[in-house]
Amino acid sequence: VSDGERLPAEFRFERVAIIGVGLIGSSLSHALRANGFSGPIAIGDRNGEALRVAAELGLGTSFHVSAAKAVAGADMVLLCIPVGAMGSTARAIAPMLSPGAIVTDVGSVKGAVAQAVVPVLGRRFVPGHPIAGTEQSGPRAGFATLFQRRWCVLTPNRETDPAAVETVAAMWRKFGSDVEIMDIDRHDLVLAITSHVPHLIAYNLVRTAYDMEAVTEQEVIKFSAGGFRDSTRLAASDPTMWRDVFLNNKVAVLETLGRFCEDLAILQRAIRWGEGDQLFDVFHRTRAIRMGIIDAGQDTPAPDFGRPREHAAGTEPEEQPSFTGVRAR
Ligand code: NAP
Repeated sequence: VSDGERLPAEFRFERVAIIGVGLIGSSLSHALRANGFSGPIAIGDRNGEALRVAAELGLGTSFHVSAAKAVAGADMVLLCIPVGAMGSTARAIAPMLSPGAIVTDVGSVKGAVAQAVVPVLGRRFVPGHPIAGTEQSGPRAGFATLFQRRWCVLTPNRETDPAAVETVAAMWRKFGSDVEIMDIDRHDLVLAITSHVPHLIAYNLVRTAYDMEAVTEQEVIKFSAGGFRDSTRLAASDPTMWRDVFLNNKVAVLETLGRFCEDLAILQRAIRWGEGDQLFDVFHRTRAIRMGIIDAGQDTPAPDFGRPREHAAGTEPEEQPSFTGVRAR
């Protein structure tokens, strides 16, 4: 089949392998198809049930428990497994890769992934991270528009093949993402404060609420107000993925957490000593940051009091997790 007839110019590859068919892997399959990719998609996942569901949903053209078998013949390999599994998977697939195959990943941490994978795969590996996701996991959670109007960060090093970087960037642009090339340490630091530490705080807040002896579990659920409810949404995120994020972005997370604790102590002190001006000034500044996020198109100003509203991704509210008994957004 001639490429020109079958593939839109933007896809510079013919056969894809997706390793890990969870939220991100299944969304990539949907996005490929929705954007006109009609070549074979081999799915690799160690989880037999995930493979069965992926087959049922038609997410691929072949399904493999072995990642090495899945990548055979592919010229684009998408690693969509937890960060901690990237190195061993790279070693497993390396002998089976076609000579010109490009490999990229979607891991939420980039330094540790590059350290584990670049020595194995070399200049053909393009580290990537779509800043897009939900608190759901598994192959049923994916949808084609997940990456639209979202950033995708690529963190190549000086050795990475520039043509491979451009092929991967073009793929993400086709999915509607804005691509940013970033220094790897900078990525891990920025994500520590914008994503990793907020998740850690949410996990801890929900844990504390449930552990508080003076408050019953029923009260936590019944009176679940905005701030806490939003935290439960974050705290419902995949445990394996987030364990790996913290173990693999240790330096940046601990640095950010240290700063956070110092700033928290200042607020704590202001409350103790009745320093209202201090509190007001901080809250005033943070409100401006929220406005900046809305202006940048990263969220909408719509009020959200936990009432069902149309999910940005078109997901039915019924499909949202009900961790607290209150619908997650
Ligand atoms: P997920 O929904 O939990 O799915 C991961 C899938 O990969 C599961 O089926 C899992 O099987 C399988 N898997 C795990 N280790 C494997 C291995 N060694 N070989 C083959 N398959 C393996 O995960 P996800 O949320 O899509 O996350 C995937 C990656 O995307 C992670 O690196 C994460 O950091 C990154 N990411 C996630 C988000 C998000 O919001 N979720 C956003 C951006 C980037 P088991 O069930 O047996 O473990």
